[in-house]
Amino acid sequence: MSKPNGKDRTQSNGEDLAGGPALELPLLDLPGSHPCHECGECCHYIAIEIDNPTAFVDHDHIYWYLSHRDVTVYVDWEGDWFIEFTTVCEHLSEQMTCGVYEDRPQLCSEFSWDDCEKTSGERAWKVHFRTPEEYHDWHRAKRPRSFERYQAWRKKLRASRKRVRVQSSRRVNAATKPARAGVSPTPAS
Ligand code: SF4
Ligand code: SF4
Repeated sequence: MSKPNGKDRTQSNGEDLAGGPALELPLLDLPGSHPCHECGECCHYIAIEIDNPTAFVDHDHIYWYLSHRDVTVYVDWEGDWFIEFTTVCEHLSEQMTCGVYEDRPQLCSEFSWDDCEKTSGERAWKVHFRTPEEYHDWHRAKRPRSFERYQAWRKKLRASRKRVRVQSSRRVNAATKPARAGVSPTPAS
């Protein structure tokens, strides 16, 4: 598995597919001209693959994800879906190098510096959703029948929640209704 937003070009023996020794990220003691020098961009997020949304609950989960700050969802060029959290790795040093270089996760080790968004100049996503509205707009435009069914499902949810709220407030009102003037509540025995 390669780290999302980049392609894995290393083999398990650590040799680069182009034939030279693997360059692993983020590199230490880099010349100032190297793209990774003082960069660390690939250590500022995590992305996890999710299912291609088909069921109501899938769309609703995406609605939930995107309702949170610093959480986005994207579709890569292979059509795979990911949830991305913008969050900096605790091991990233102020110099933008890895503080646990020898002991870093395998995903970091396999990430290829010459294929990342920064060095390739190509964005890693085909579609990127940052808000629920962006996702709903895409859903409506690209999968209109699915969007309609999802909206009908949400409408039913809203109606049932409204019923529950009305019933609960009636029960609360009944429990707190004051005694009529001149009629004392029955004292507890
Ligand atoms: S791999 Fe790319 S994003 Fe990561 S440090 Fe190097 S240049 Fe920056
Ligand atoms: S462990 Fe190192 S390479 Fe991996 S994200 Fe953290 S700082 Fe970056």
